[in-house]
Amino acid sequence: MELLSGWGRTAATAADVVTPGDPNAVRDALASSNGRGVLPRGLGRAYGDAAQNAGGRVIDTTAMTRFLSVDVESGVARVEAGVSLDALASAMLPFGWFLPVTPGTAFVTVGGAIASDVHGKNHHRDGSFCEHVSSLVLVTPAGERLTLTPGDDLFWATAGGMGLTGVVVEATVRMTPVETAWVREDVERAANVDDCMARMEERDDAYRYSVAWIDCLARGRRLGRSVLLRGDHAARADLPAGVAPLERRRGLRVAAPPWMPSGLLRRETIAAFNELYYRRAPREERGRLVPIDPFFYPLDGVRGWNRMYGERGFLQYQFAVPFGREDAIREALERLSSRRVASFLAVLKRFGAQRGLISFPMPGWTLALDIPAGSPGLAELLDGLDSLVAEAGGRVYLAKDSRLRPELLEAMYPQLPRWRELQRSVDPDGRMRSDLSRRLGLVA
Ligand SMILES: Cc1cc2nc3c(=O)[nH]c(=O)nc-3n(C[C@H](O)[C@H](O)[C@H](O)COP(=O)(O)OP(=O)(O)OC[C@H]3O[C@@H](n4cnc5c(N)ncnc54)[C@H](O)[C@@H]3O)c2cc1C
Repeated sequence: MELLSGWGRTAATAADVVTPGDPNAVRDALASSNGRGVLPRGLGRAYGDAAQNAGGRVIDTTAMTRFLSVDVESGVARVEAGVSLDALASAMLPFGWFLPVTPGTAFVTVGGAIASDVHGKNHHRDGSFCEHVSSLVLVTPAGERLTLTPGDDLFWATAGGMGLTGVVVEATVRMTPVETAWVREDVERAANVDDCMARMEERDDAYRYSVAWIDCLARGRRLGRSVLLRGDHAARADLPAGVAPLERRRGLRVAAPPWMPSGLLRRETIAAFNELYYRRAPREERGRLVPIDPFFYPLDGVRGWNRMYGERGFLQYQFAVPFGREDAIREALERLSSRRVASFLAVLKRFGAQRGLISFPMPGWTLALDIPAGSPGLAELLDGLDSLVAEAGGRVYLAKDSRLRPELLEAMYPQLPRWRELQRSVDPDGRMRSDLSRRLGLVA
């Protein structure tokens, strides 16, 4: 048995972990699981309990890392599900191809990216990860090996299905053509959240990538003051002479110390950081060149940065609300700032259309916050935000969740009944289980 937790390092549980090297071994691992069920796991970057299965079996997929076929002309890669997005990007960049969608860390597996149907800064333009998967191979709990394409309902139940339809063992991903490993970024400051949303509505469509960093401690007229960061892949002609266009520049890599005093990232530190970050950002700057790594993965440079929250860990709260309910974003920021709940990282994005049955994105706005666990009054505050989000027709992100009340799940995910039907069709004996699925009653 091994203790496993999510990236937030709260509520670890023990499971029997097996690490198969190929799909046949995955089938054996599924067949021999005990009554507490079985669950695949990738690189453990889900923040909460989505990749844990207390007392049951966990199938660690990270030994399945083969590239099965790569077409450098068309940018199509067929890979095993344990390949990380980091490895996929490194392999394909020299040929002028980048990830079609990437989350804020490259250290997630292709299988994990499918199971959470992850979104990036380009959801408003390109949708989520599974929109760029032309097929996947799923090993079902009964040991069947199914090849699924976007024409299959089970594909869209597996996309965003949190590992509960079976184990994805391989996927074919269509990459995005790029001329360089750089982004041309425009930066501007917004005085408050209304100003920020107005700027995003007006000009987001002109950019492939868009995100706003929000100071959620600012209050009054400055509520939700923000720094807007938007950009596109740079062309060769944008780079100064002598720069190798497709070379990945990761910058300085450091590791967080193994032990940190609890509460290092407390409100005062975060408030000081926010002030400095906002003031240091240019009021407006156009076309600055940034390598893809610091642009997409600002935190990947510090290995184990999640330890900086100390022993208590932290949680991420991410929700989405539909367009027209901007008031819910404003109200959430008001509640957070008035309770002085500090978030080191708060980001606002716009989402476009979405196909996965229980995938998180929906056309609208999404706000994500990292909050130290154990902040006073946090449970009550977040329960209140859940109700606000549900009433607005929105939802919280299951890949980040560790505390949602189950009674809100169906309101937040209206296609849950159809998803449950499909899930049951491949798992009639209820073998796929996770701490998340038990806590929320996700599978019927
Ligand atoms: C710093 C940071 C930034 C992030 N930014 C974003 C972001 O911008 N957008 C976003 O969408 N997410 C974001 N995330 C969340 C992360 O992308 C997802 O949680 C992703 O699923 C993690 O992949 P993983 O390989 O670590 O999977 P794990 O965390 O190990 O597992 C996550 C889920 O995937 C399932 N799973 C894993 N492998 C398989 C498989 N082979 N077959 C079937 N199911 C499987 C697991 O059962 C579990 O339910 C971020 C996380 C971190 C730590």
